[in-house]
Amino acid sequence: MRDAIFIGIAKSRVKGLRTRLGLAGFLGGTAMLLEPSIWPVVWFLVYFVSQIIDNNLFKAALKNPKKQGDEAKFIIAIALSTLIFSAMSAYTWIFGGEEGRIFAVISICGALLHVTLQLYNRRTYLFAGLLPHALYLLFLPSVTAVIEPGHNSFTLFIVNVGTFVFLGNLAWAVRQNNQSLLDLKVAKDEAQEARKLAENESAAKTNFLAVITHEIRTPMNAVLSAANLLKRTPLNDEQSDHVRMLSNASEVLMGLLNDVLDISKIEAGKMSIERAAIDLKDLVTGVGQLWSPQAQIKNVRLLLEIEDDLPSQIMIDPLRLRQILFNLLSNAVKFTAKGLIIVRVYRLPNASGHTELRFDVEDQGIGIAGDQLERIFSSFEQADAGTTRRYGGTGLGLAISRKLAQLMGGDISVRSSLGHGSCFSLSLPYDSLLLTAIDMPEGFDAVEADEAPAEGPRTILIVDDHEVNRRIVSLFVQPLGWRWVMAENGQQAVDLCRSEAFDIILMDMQMPVMGGIEATKLIRNQDGPNQDTPIVALTANAMEHHQKAWAEAGVEDFLAKPIDPDLLINTLIAKSRINPLRAAA
Ligand code: ADP
Repeated sequence: MRDAIFIGIAKSRVKGLRTRLGLAGFLGGTAMLLEPSIWPVVWFLVYFVSQIIDNNLFKAALKNPKKQGDEAKFIIAIALSTLIFSAMSAYTWIFGGEEGRIFAVISICGALLHVTLQLYNRRTYLFAGLLPHALYLLFLPSVTAVIEPGHNSFTLFIVNVGTFVFLGNLAWAVRQNNQSLLDLKVAKDEAQEARKLAENESAAKTNFLAVITHEIRTPMNAVLSAANLLKRTPLNDEQSDHVRMLSNASEVLMGLLNDVLDISKIEAGKMSIERAAIDLKDLVTGVGQLWSPQAQIKNVRLLLEIEDDLPSQIMIDPLRLRQILFNLLSNAVKFTAKGLIIVRVYRLPNASGHTELRFDVEDQGIGIAGDQLERIFSSFEQADAGTTRRYGGTGLGLAISRKLAQLMGGDISVRSSLGHGSCFSLSLPYDSLLLTAIDMPEGFDAVEADEAPAEGPRTILIVDDHEVNRRIVSLFVQPLGWRWVMAENGQQAVDLCRSEAFDIILMDMQMPVMGGIEATKLIRNQDGPNQDTPIVALTANAMEHHQKAWAEAGVEDFLAKPIDPDLLINTLIAKSRINPLRAAA
């Protein structure tokens, strides 16, 4: 019974105590003026006591909503309170002459209104509050007509009619109000339902994107890896050209796929920002080096200017910082036909007195018209319609970059002059990037590149349902002189792990019969020689929550498809450990 409506009523009753006592004081005082006697004083004292009881009753109910007796005591309290209150109106009606009667009618109507506003939500309480006032209003004129025969009974009859009209209006207003509340509730329920539906649809869209990305990235991974392998074989010039075209086109497609995935992750609020200690100069130089061949081909000079006394290490999400700088530099190179591109990294105090770390990418390219400057940061927007025709692109790069910058607590701004060049500036809050004593690397360890295997060749278990992928991985590890065993699904991997010891396991995620997560968990928990064997997850599924699932299942590291041959080899070398049980066998 102690529901939200009751709580609302109880609260307003407790809160309204002073108002009721104040009104009672006014009523009693006026009665004293109209007809001085002891009764208004007695009445006020009685009303005061009744209100204290009423107040304690509702206060206790609010304090402990579960432990109150039955509903009757609240109904009686309300009825008693109104019965006592309007008794003073009866006094002014009987003893106050004409003015007293007018005052009585006004004060009872006011009380009726007050009770209605306070109790309209619960019918039983409303009746308990209304009935005593209504009875006074009806009976005072009627009784007077009977006991004062000389009185103008027509006037009294009119007062009665007025009472009915007033009560009828009050009932109508309550009904209307309740109907509006009901409509409002229905509308609210409908809106909530629609929101839930939209959220479900959005979740389904994200999921759909994850699945589609996985499905497209898997064959793309095979294409890219095969092109990489082909590059390592002896080729004549024409063949080299064709392979380059193959891998370039695959990389463009992978880039587009990654962009679409990123924007949908950001929009679904699922993009999370990591923090790791990185060498700032290395990162910026690395991105610059990626673009310098392209710039050289176009005869554009690419300069890096990094402030001298910047700390060598900062805490940041290296992947996302690299992605932003890569996008800005890719645009600068794309839209500059001749001249200079300068990448500057420096500290700058901002308007609010804090220091920012700024990354400027300034070019002497085609520039952007003033009215386009904000538009280019929206998804799928380009400065003008001819851009795609001339330069290609999707208009996603800047939208993703700005959102990533904002997720890192910063922003991207642009200054540009049409025909003269542009300067894009990424600014990040400098203090948050500084290393502190507690900034220990978290999660997976960084891979030490080119770390030599200490104790000779290893045995690797390659688990993937795609034959092409298994072959590609085996070809990559071949130059290391490693031995490999293959499994087509998780179940086969679990069975193999019972009897044979491996130094490292490369595990795909989505496979028929048994997926990678389940297989990883079983290998970790079963008796056998591979309980502690490092497991590296290899997957085209780049969604964040999948990575978490892998880590929880017990994998040591995570590699995204398409396989980067160097990263794969470095990871395998760094993560594999000679299995003592294999060495002993
Ligand atoms: P995309 O380059 O794939 O079209 P972006 O979001 O990276 O998408 O850029 C959006 C648009 O902003 C570009 O199409 C181009 O019109 C404009 N733009 C971005 N960078 C530059 C630049 N450095 N110089 C001139 N225009 C630029």
